[in-house]
Amino acid sequence: MRLLLVEDDPSISVPLRAGLEREGFTVEVVATGAAALAAAPADLVLLDLGLPDIEGPVVCRRLREAGPTPIIVVTARGDEFDRVMLLELGADDYVVKPFGFRELVARIRAVLRRSITAERGGSTDIIEIGGLHIDRRVHRVHFDGAAVTLTPKEYDLLLYLAADPGTVRSRDQLMREVWDEHWWGSTKTLDVHVASLRKKLRPELIETVRSVGYRLAPEATQPR
Ligand code: CA
Repeated sequence: MRLLLVEDDPSISVPLRAGLEREGFTVEVVATGAAALAAAPADLVLLDLGLPDIEGPVVCRRLREAGPTPIIVVTARGDEFDRVMLLELGADDYVVKPFGFRELVARIRAVLRRSITAERGGSTDIIEIGGLHIDRRVHRVHFDGAAVTLTPKEYDLLLYLAADPGTVRSRDQLMREVWDEHWWGSTKTLDVHVASLRKKLRPELIETVRSVGYRLAPEATQPR
């Protein structure tokens, strides 16, 4: 697995690189946002938000726009970035400096595992259920003939439900597979994302299964 470490402070990047290499990762270190955006594709990006040239959140958004590579953001304590903002920017997880090395490695492995699971959700690049069309190569969604713009997590959630249409997914399962249990204290965010998907797609497309979770209702995908 190839990691791109974007960190301008050598007192962090040098030992971190050595530690990650001992864990079996191949690590490329860059010290600026420009170099991060120009770097060869990696399996995961570790992104320090305090960079000398481009603001970290801008780098994060541009990396996300460039492709589906998972991003773990590294923030300094006291940075004014909250979870919602990091999510909007497309980050998959975050750690706050100073962080423990073991904790970081666990986060990296969890994010990589989720991204591999998402990729494996089916062998086809395109999922088509009624009028719902998901192109996994470019992360594009069309519904009833119209393009739908989703945030990265809305997309992940829809993809996870659509990978097995009709099957009920429990809240725990959704939080574990689509989010990281470290990422949110509450599962309220799940309901927020479901509500937003219903609004953007069709209300009855995602069915609530009381006291269990949610399912994608295949019968609600028919074009109108
Ligand atoms: Ca920095």
